[in-house]
Amino acid sequence: MSKHFETEAIRSQTERSQFLEHSTPLYLTSSFVFEDAEEMRSSFAEEKERNLYSRFTNPNTTEFVDKIVAMEGAEAGYAFATGMSAIFSSFAALLNAGDHIVSCRSVFGSTHSMFTKYLPKWNIETSYFKVDEVHLVESLIKENTKILYIETPTNPGVDILDLDVIGKIAKKHNLIFIVDNCFATPYVQQPIKFGADLVIHSATKLIDGQGRVLGGVTVGTKDLIREIYLFARNTGPAMSAFNAWVLSKSLETLSIRVEKHCENALKVAQFLEDNENVEFVKYPFLKSHPQYKVAKQQMKLGGNIVAFEIKGGIDAGRQFLNKIKMCSLSANLGDTRTIVTHPSSTTHGRLSEEDRLEVGITDGLVRVSVGLENVEDIINDIQQALSNK
Ligand SMILES: *Cc1c(COP(=O)(O)O)cnc(C)c1O
Repeated sequence: MSKHFETEAIRSQTERSQFLEHSTPLYLTSSFVFEDAEEMRSSFAEEKERNLYSRFTNPNTTEFVDKIVAMEGAEAGYAFATGMSAIFSSFAALLNAGDHIVSCRSVFGSTHSMFTKYLPKWNIETSYFKVDEVHLVESLIKENTKILYIETPTNPGVDILDLDVIGKIAKKHNLIFIVDNCFATPYVQQPIKFGADLVIHSATKLIDGQGRVLGGVTVGTKDLIREIYLFARNTGPAMSAFNAWVLSKSLETLSIRVEKHCENALKVAQFLEDNENVEFVKYPFLKSHPQYKVAKQQMKLGGNIVAFEIKGGIDAGRQFLNKIKMCSLSANLGDTRTIVTHPSSTTHGRLSEEDRLEVGITDGLVRVSVGLENVEDIINDIQQALSNK
């Protein structure tokens, strides 16, 4: 019988060694030994499942993957060194030269670079729809389209895409539906329930949750993961045993951390809605969010990212960052520490204004990754940075 989410995160464990450790130890070993020639032969022939070499599997990466598989309701998975290696390897494993992708335009910056700069080297093109153009998705599908790709909530605009509607389009056209579920975590949203074939995470964010290690993971159907596994096993983007050990421990506290992150984020969003120097606030669980209804259908909580438009544009955004005292100015998100960024003067500063607007980045847009500090301290810091004094 499958157990509840919190229980799976704590109790799915690799077998104990002869030392009967309670907490899974770190298996810092590159390879594993065989009793005799026959065991070595049958293991390499994959007649039995066991660890051979840590580029393929390792007890720590297996434990981490098994937990995410259970949490997402998937069949199988593979762990990667980073979120980007999970994304790139999954695409590279499944696509052939000449294939076509349909993707939402609002995707993580490096994912967009993969679509625009690198996949075209193999004659793989991508067509985009904007967050409010889901009705155009079917018209973008071509004979050679193989993958339909989205993130929801999106970064940094915190828009919501309807997983059910897009999942049905993918199914109708026999496309592989891939969802980057990084912003939600499996605690908040499980895209497989809505028809996703593969779910990808940057484990660097809320899954680690403490800003320590990089990691990525792809989970989904057995057949697709088998192709991705064989590609990864030969090309080498594996997660390290140490990072898997850290991340597997992180999963034990994912549910309580994410609950608190989301509770704090909602309070920050509500505070911002009432602030006179704020033009508008985007948070999935605020009634004012344009996709509030869809968010409520597919998400258990609103997530930890709040976006808001500060009055006064680029200058006001820069000034806000300069006045922040406690919160960090940093490129990460999903950390215990609250992080604020101003995309139009930093991460997306090199884009033209038109390109920025395509992904919902207005001049005064500020993104807050709400952390686990006492929410009054977070709000006080934001309030003093917003004040005109
Ligand atoms: C950070 C991030 C990634 C990339 O993950 P890395 O671990 O930094 O490689 C991919 N997708 C989203 C939505 C992210 O936030």
